[in-house]
Amino acid sequence: MVVILKNNATETQIENVKKHLEDFGFQIHESRGEVKTILGAIGVKPGFDIRKIKILDGVADVYRVTAPFKMASRSFKEDNTIIEIGNVKIGSGEIVLMAGPCSIESEDQIFRLAKVVAESGSKVLRGGAFKPRTSPYSFQGLGEEGLKLMRAAADEFGLLMVTEVMQISQIELIGKYTDIFQVGARNMQNFGLLKELGKTNIPVMLKRGLAATIEDWLMSAEYILANGNADVMLCERGIRTFETYTRNTFDLSAIPVVHEKSHLPVVADPSHATGYRKQVAPMARAAVAAGADSLIIEIHDKPEEALSDGPQALLPNDYLSLVQELKVIAKAIGREL
Ligand code: PEP
Ligand code: MN
Repeated sequence: MVVILKNNATETQIENVKKHLEDFGFQIHESRGEVKTILGAIGVKPGFDIRKIKILDGVADVYRVTAPFKMASRSFKEDNTIIEIGNVKIGSGEIVLMAGPCSIESEDQIFRLAKVVAESGSKVLRGGAFKPRTSPYSFQGLGEEGLKLMRAAADEFGLLMVTEVMQISQIELIGKYTDIFQVGARNMQNFGLLKELGKTNIPVMLKRGLAATIEDWLMSAEYILANGNADVMLCERGIRTFETYTRNTFDLSAIPVVHEKSHLPVVADPSHATGYRKQVAPMARAAVAAGADSLIIEIHDKPEEALSDGPQALLPNDYLSLVQELKVIAKAIGREL
């Protein structure tokens, strides 16, 4: 941590700041220029609140040198984390595609779409059985019945499955069916849920919150890692901005930023990020080019009848052609798909 004193800070103020730093257990390195005094504080714990120093009289600014997250950081673990589930490896040179409907709606629907997912060569079937809907009057998902149908469809076509868990009480039930837990954007900071997921041995896909900074998001991943589950992937699904022509704003730059700051794999969700079918393929192509380790895309063969997110679902044929384009882009950047 670096503490910059105000140019007019008095000796008493500087001594007071040093005393606080010592009381917090930091080692101090003092550097005095003609006008500026800068204090380097060594030994800052990840959870330390730097505002405790910022508010002291005579302090101009305080900066962290090390990230507040530890186990999620690249400095903690230099090599990329590769999450292995069966013969699927997420975070390796091979880009993993996940696709399926927003919600599981019926046996027929999930089987039809699982077939498309398998035909495209994608490895993971997505679909929600417990849905976090903005309106309590919207379809809330089929619950356990949906999980059963999805597991059967995934098994029939040799796919893995990912589905959302919204609360602690659902972990045990969903854990019996799923290969990957999805934590939705609205639950990114449900710390109780994150801690409990950290105690399981099922991989977790943690979506970025609607208004979360990359640091907030990595701190949430830290909750899962610190509780014992090392298999965490981060999913960029767009953030809220002032823009209205897209449902959210796809933060493509989060992909290289997370790769720099963390060893965890990054999944990109161009469906929720844009909200409109026409925008999904261009942003999926961009996400592969930007280095995403995996993509999760919503598809539907009767989007006008979909019970949720129909307007952003790709039609099966459009998805199949997109996969072919993504293969070319992956190859151009030295990856497989
Ligand atoms: C979903 O994947 O259908 C979903 C609800 O996602 P998010 O949490 O990103 O809105
Ligand atoms: Mn959806």
